[in-house]
Amino acid sequence: QWGMLQGNLLKAVGKNNYSSWIEPLDFDDVRDGVATFNVPTTFLGNYVKQNFGDQILYQMMGMGLNVSRVHFTVPVGQSPAVSNPVEGAAAAEGAFVEVAPQKREAPFAAAPLDSKFTFANFVVGKPNELAHAAAKRVAEGGPVTFNPLFLYGGVGLGKTHLMHAIAWELQTSRPDLNVVYLSAEQFMYRFVQALRDRKMMDFKELFRSVDVLMVDDVQFIAGKDSTQEEFFHTFNALVDQRKQIIISADRAPGEIKDLEERIKSRLQCGLVVDLHPTDYELRLGILQSKVEVQQAQYPELSLEAGVLEFLAHRISTNVRVLEGALTRLFAFASLVGRPITLELVQDCLADVLRNSERKISVEEIQRKVSEHYNIRLSDMIGPKRVRTYARPRQVAMYLCKQLTSRSLPEIGRCFGGRDHTTIMYGVRKIEDMRAQDGQLAEDIEILRRILEA
Ligand code: ADP
Ligand code: MG
Repeated sequence: QWGMLQGNLLKAVGKNNYSSWIEPLDFDDVRDGVATFNVPTTFLGNYVKQNFGDQILYQMMGMGLNVSRVHFTVPVGQSPAVSNPVEGAAAAEGAFVEVAPQKREAPFAAAPLDSKFTFANFVVGKPNELAHAAAKRVAEGGPVTFNPLFLYGGVGLGKTHLMHAIAWELQTSRPDLNVVYLSAEQFMYRFVQALRDRKMMDFKELFRSVDVLMVDDVQFIAGKDSTQEEFFHTFNALVDQRKQIIISADRAPGEIKDLEERIKSRLQCGLVVDLHPTDYELRLGILQSKVEVQQAQYPELSLEAGVLEFLAHRISTNVRVLEGALTRLFAFASLVGRPITLELVQDCLADVLRNSERKISVEEIQRKVSEHYNIRLSDMIGPKRVRTYARPRQVAMYLCKQLTSRSLPEIGRCFGGRDHTTIMYGVRKIEDMRAQDGQLAEDIEILRRILEA
């Protein structure tokens, strides 16, 4: 059977992949639904698990084997240093090879779970507290109260992290449950493969026997008609059986284009929660928690006070970028043998800092200022010259000059086609008044903080 599996894998992954990654595997046995393969090195095992684990599992299931998980192990007595001198030597130096953390065994998952994506490693703040609470609730594995749980939010805000955390937690709280996590793309891939191999019965059976189904990045199936159709049936079958479903997407259900109406409305039936963009406090909290990991890895590096605050302030895009910046900073400091200072940050992260500068728009400023002074946006932009409108208008002009890179004529155009001299006058006026008028100075400070958050 190993021979047959090898043949199928060769077809599925192609010759190059096969000879690099599959050929070195040595099939051991299948016990209790776990197929074990011997691999020469941990690195190879991890790589194969990440990249081909799904495929191997799929092929074995296709051969009628009762397998729900694949496992790769380095046989005892076969030290990586012997079988792979390069990897062994680097590991001995402890420098560039990340020492693989003890991988926790994933529950039956169509996709491998990241062992770092746990609740313990998830920093909770205002922007994500609701999503976190909902995820926690589902992870208790109690009776289904809302179905589905729909998590949405921009890239890098922790959707995948939360879903993996649910899967890990359920493994402890409800080991009896069959939990499946996969991306919508993988769902489609499996579906298409089942169609091609005439294995639709197996496919349906597999997904309908799940207790908790998590589908990540569901926006991926938008516009893919037959996959949507199948997803809809799977979804309904599971909801009817009162099985928990957890879905994520990069936007709210109603805003996913090319998604069938009936699916949209189904997705809205449960609890829809969004992950808001991070705020400064959350970013700082995340950095503080991640910096511990880095410091454990590079104990010799000193970290100047204020660096984390600076990063939290300046990198306001997504958490993944924030994490990447931190990793790079430590690696860079270690390479050049310098302490981590603000100056080093500028040297090492110039590109990241440039790209993640948040662009504040004129429209945003106008909106916030009108809200702050409780006047209508149209009045602020319009021609009325009474003080109630003129002062906020000038404040907005001033902030546009300060916080955006727009030129005076451009700003003028956004203020109902005013001349650039009018804008300049407004900006000067506020500059002068600010020095004497404490209330005005305070208003501007508040607005600046709101806009820069
Ligand atoms: P998404 O799926 O929403 O695009 P991810 O879940 O992949 O985002 O998160 C991106 C990275 O940021 C991951 O490494 C994740 O661990 C980290 N991350 C996001 N939010 C948090 C958080 N609140 N606490 C700790 N790490 C986080
Ligand atoms: Mg994700």
